[in-house]
Amino acid sequence: MIITREAKVKVNQINLSYFESLGYEANIGEVLTIPVELLSTGSHQKIDCKCDTCGSVKSVIFKNYIKYGNKWGTYYCRKCSEHKRKKSLNLNFGVDYPIQNREIKSKIVKSLNKKKK
Ligand SMILES: [Zn+2]
Repeated sequence: MIITREAKVKVNQINLSYFESLGYEANIGEVLTIPVELLSTGSHQKIDCKCDTCGSVKSVIFKNYIKYGNKWGTYYCRKCSEHKRKKSLNLNFGVDYPIQNREIKSKIVKSLNKKKK
């Protein structure tokens, strides 16, 4: 769960047109308060997230939150996501780590050999 609702962004030459397209009236140098959802995908702003399983609160860089393909609004801390990851790996491949699966391992070896050449 994302706890942070709003973020403060300083308007500069680069993001000005982005905010204008969203309907904000802003000048360069001004600080806008926007909903977190509207942060640009490359934003380094830190947002507070609460783990949906254990409830611990972590501050995460927005850019990274987007990068890891989280479904919008969901968040799992490192500890819980490991558990979750193992669960789906077990469900799909019957192993705890991808390397333990023969098919995946041979695929990795194959592409490594390909790169060597
Ligand atoms: Zn957790």
